[in-house]
Amino acid sequence: MMGARAIRAAAAFAFLLWAGSAAALRPRPMVELQPGTARPGDVVLITVRGEKAPLSGQVGDKTLVFVRSARGFRALFGIPVERPPGEMSLQIQLPEGAGTQDGGEIALSVDIVEPGFPSRELQVSNQYINPPPKAKRWMAQDQAAFRRAYDQPLTGLLFRQGFAWPRDPLVTSHFGDLRLFNGQKQSQHFGTDLDGRVGDPVAAANDGVVVLARACYASGNTVIIHHGGGLFTAYFHLSRMQVNPGMKVVRGQRIGLVGKTGRVTGPHLHWASKVNSLYVNAESLLQLRFD
Ligand SMILES: [Zn+2]
Repeated sequence: MMGARAIRAAAAFAFLLWAGSAAALRPRPMVELQPGTARPGDVVLITVRGEKAPLSGQVGDKTLVFVRSARGFRALFGIPVERPPGEMSLQIQLPEGAGTQDGGEIALSVDIVEPGFPSRELQVSNQYINPPPKAKRWMAQDQAAFRRAYDQPLTGLLFRQGFAWPRDPLVTSHFGDLRLFNGQKQSQHFGTDLDGRVGDPVAAANDGVVVLARACYASGNTVIIHHGGGLFTAYFHLSRMQVNPGMKVVRGQRIGLVGKTGRVTGPHLHWASKVNSLYVNAESLLQLRFD
């Protein structure tokens, strides 16, 4: 939290400086960064207020994609899981007349801390470690369906309030856990596991449009919701799916029931999120304020 406050203070200072030295120019816009301190895998939200012309920006070698909202321009990005601790800098280019005659640039940074992802061993049915040929074809079709679902045109954010847990937050495994399946297959957990019984309700974490509802091999019955701005949430291993692709949903609306379909050790909800093609920690969405 200290980091977020420090960044906001820095942005306010920049505003005062420009207002004093270039009174004839439009005031420099206010930039808010949430959070100021983050872990690899977290989602970061940038809000730029007081600017009407479209913005551009970069974080590392990636382009920041700004979309319009009622509160100004917003961009979301995910911190890659392999990102080492330290300062991650980003730049926003301002259009002409904003603070200086030819635009100029705002530089910000996020403080990345050590994630300390824990390791654990899991046992699953061997058909998920060495899938038979039929399963490999099924998985290839699933991958194609996921790609189509995540390939949405860029829209503004389709929600106005913050994100909510999709069910009771009884977390059994967090995002980023390093796993060894049946003593041989290594992977990283790109989701949050929430405990539950088969048949417990699962709700949409925020408003959006359903872009996938499909029986998949590894993720079981799977629902994916697009929230606009390149942001998605996904819900795996459902016993029942109660929405169809193209349906609009609102935060808290029931979309299916907890199950144990696909590669699981027991009934639970695997809740995942993706932003601009990167799997991110869905739990980190809950901390962001969109008002
Ligand atoms: Zn999971």
